[in-house]
Amino acid sequence: MVMKDVWDEREKAFENQYFRDVERKQIEAMKEKMHEGQIRELCKNRCPKCGEEIQASTFRGVPLDQCPSCGGIWLGPNDLKILAEKDHRTWFDNWFHAGENQG
Ligand SMILES: [Zn+2]
Repeated sequence: MVMKDVWDEREKAFENQYFRDVERKQIEAMKEKMHEGQIRELCKNRCPKCGEEIQASTFRGVPLDQCPSCGGIWLGPNDLKILAEKDHRTWFDNWFHAGENQG
């Protein structure tokens, strides 16, 4: 009778440990998710290089985002394609040759 109680108690302790572990993992996952959400919220519309708020701009009629601090430029998924198709030889060439002349 006493022996059985001891085993019951042990079993209960193991069970509690198990549920504690499950709970802890769920809480960790929740925290991770919240943290991820906060990071996304904080980085929204921010330059990934310097953290400055990026500003909407246009280049040859194509909308783009530019960082006023470091000059980084972000294009939407189709914008580079649109730009390249507009005058594929000139603007890319100009860009690269401008870089060469500076160097
Ligand atoms: Zn920047």
